[in-house]
Amino acid sequence: VLGSCDVVNQLGELIACPSSNPPGDTKRVAEVVATRMAEHGFRAALHAPPEAPEMVSVITESGEGHPCVLFHAHLDTVPPAAPDQWISDPFTARMKDGRVFGLGACDDKGPLAAMMVAAQRIAERRQTGRIVVVGAADEEAAGVRGTAWLREHGAFMETDFAVIGEQTHNRIALCHKGTVRLVVAIRGRSAHATQPDRGVNAIHAMAELIRDIEQYHQILACHPHPLLGAGTASVNLIAGGRAGNVVADDCEATIDRRIVPPDKPTQVIEQIRDLLRGVERRRGVSAEVLSAEISPWFQAPGGDPMTQRFMEVIQSITGHDPGPVGYPPGSDAKFFMPLLSRIPTIVFGPGSHEQAHAVDEWVSVEELNECMRVLEVFGTSVLGGACGHA
Ligand SMILES: [Zn+2]
Repeated sequence: VLGSCDVVNQLGELIACPSSNPPGDTKRVAEVVATRMAEHGFRAALHAPPEAPEMVSVITESGEGHPCVLFHAHLDTVPPAAPDQWISDPFTARMKDGRVFGLGACDDKGPLAAMMVAAQRIAERRQTGRIVVVGAADEEAAGVRGTAWLREHGAFMETDFAVIGEQTHNRIALCHKGTVRLVVAIRGRSAHATQPDRGVNAIHAMAELIRDIEQYHQILACHPHPLLGAGTASVNLIAGGRAGNVVADDCEATIDRRIVPPDKPTQVIEQIRDLLRGVERRRGVSAEVLSAEISPWFQAPGGDPMTQRFMEVIQSITGHDPGPVGYPPGSDAKFFMPLLSRIPTIVFGPGSHEQAHAVDEWVSVEELNECMRVLEVFGTSVLGGACGHA
């Protein structure tokens, strides 16, 4: 298999640097990326926001000017799902049946390892322009102190094409879902449980809201996005009441609403407020949205020459349909939305998002190497001239 040792070894080294988020400390893994890239002549710099000095991102680059190709992957992982159920230590890479197991194997240290090795090979043959590899902190906690912070400080301004490494089975994804997460509160009136009709039960009112959310979810299902499927709504956290013998006067719930293009977060929040007003009228409670966390969706037009070329390279290396496909979870690609008119951006990488955030997370060695080869051949064809063939 082409280059298997390089990428698998690099992945093993990244897995051995814990970077679970929370707490989101990426210092050690960022230093490893900086050191390995510097060994191949890359300039490397670590960056962290002053308010979160442990959330270290790394930018490494080789060459000058344009064209500039950017490879981006995130450094942090979720904490290991049920660590006692893993067959072996999540922080020690293990090879079995053509798979690498370990926390972050596919999300997102696999893409990062493939990008590092591909960029090193591109740099060896590069005749023009610049290759940049970014390892970003804080993606699993929405990316505000990682990619968003880097963008605000001008990190991506001189880029001509960006690849965001996530799990697409080595197809191009040009869109992903967004999230609106709302905490809602219902206030009623307490009473002794021997005479519940004297009170106004906030938990009972919340039960009605939950039924309304289920109906709302069914309506959303009728209007799917062609690549991402439909938006969704579900209630995933709930708390309320004071004691078993007191009518509950308050109840709070967290609603997770996944949005797809062209949903507007402000409209989505208004739709949920409408449901709350309905419950207020019918139940005599007061209801409000306490907070709304918004993470935007991503949708790129595609069709530009760089994206076209990337698709051709996928086809020639893997022989499979290059896409475009949808990537259902969120990613740091959302932060490139305001830059899309200048920087065509795609999501691309080995494995499936269903392997991510799971016990015994794994990535296929074959897909890992295919990913590296696609990146290498694409980058070399853009920056190196001569060696653009598979
Ligand atoms: Zn990821």
